[in-house]
Amino acid sequence: MRTEKLPSGPRDLVARLQEAAARLPGRMTVMEVCGTHTVAAFRSGLRSVLPETLRLVSGPGCPVCVTPVNYVDRAVAMASIAEVTVATFGDMVRVPGSTTSLERARAGGADVRVVYSATDALEIARRNPGRRVVFLGVGFETTAPGTAWTIQEARRDGVENFGVFCAHKTMPEAMAALASGGELRIDGFMCPGHVSTVIGARPYEFLARDFGVPCVITGFEPTDILEALLMLVTQRLEGRAEVEIQYARSVRPEGNPAARRLIDEVFEPCDVEWRGLGCIPGSGLRIRASFAAHDAERWFPDPEAPPPREHPGCICGDVLRGAREPAECPLFARVCTPDSPVGPCMVGAEGACAIWYKYGERPRL
Ligand code: SF4
Repeated sequence: MRTEKLPSGPRDLVARLQEAAARLPGRMTVMEVCGTHTVAAFRSGLRSVLPETLRLVSGPGCPVCVTPVNYVDRAVAMASIAEVTVATFGDMVRVPGSTTSLERARAGGADVRVVYSATDALEIARRNPGRRVVFLGVGFETTAPGTAWTIQEARRDGVENFGVFCAHKTMPEAMAALASGGELRIDGFMCPGHVSTVIGARPYEFLARDFGVPCVITGFEPTDILEALLMLVTQRLEGRAEVEIQYARSVRPEGNPAARRLIDEVFEPCDVEWRGLGCIPGSGLRIRASFAAHDAERWFPDPEAPPPREHPGCICGDVLRGAREPAECPLFARVCTPDSPVGPCMVGAEGACAIWYKYGERPRL
């Protein structure tokens, strides 16, 4: 593992990247596995200065987007119970389920509240002891410690009406599934900066070792991304596959031990379904039996429900695997827009389709 700081300056970095990429033996495909990187690359116009030989594709970095439709359906079903309040981050409210969304359920009278954190949901539970408050635990290793802390807090304070419907996921296993899938040859990963502040660099080492894919943990400024791309191209040119930390001002190799400990205390790994990627072994976090009293999934076991349905024209699954770009979707910007999203990738601020719609080219209507 190497931690490197290259000389900066956007012009200098672009020139060096152009020069290095020109020496690549073929086209190199780099996947950014974080929606914030996708936003940064589009907003800064960085994609327009990338060398021809370097292709940047988006991966499954939007937590709302990778949450499967049956989870949305179950959340809607919970919200439809008279004594239940569902509390969630804003993006989740607008994600279409099989037949409806939490937003529409709220319009129909369900108690659905938008919160900024799990602790906000806990506060709602404290103030409404006659209701069961379900927080939708969606997100990667970045948000999981906050959920874990809040579950511990609820138990400490005896807030029995607070529960979490847990869909937290872990990123390295999904990256392994993509690296081994064979559908898209990935020559380098830009590893997520926020996730890595928690887990550190070590959990990616098997990707470099077993799949031969260079990995660079990357910050969110345009110069961070340019540096990371230069580091990835350099690894490729030198025949190396290692984990390097470009985002050294925030990420330590060991991550944040206190946050990792919180995750381990409250959650255990499980196999879980990702939209577009299927079931990935060990990539989910479920609430340990010792905290079962706050596990909303145990409060409301999986109901008999029709199989989940997604819009047949939506290619979110392909987009999340990097197999196709948003503009290849026949519904993109024609039927599906941020005001009227057909799939989750058009909903969230980190959804690839929403980002392409905001910053990218649009098809002629
Ligand atoms: Fe799905 Fe809309 Fe994206 Fe098409 S443009 S893949 S329908 S979210």
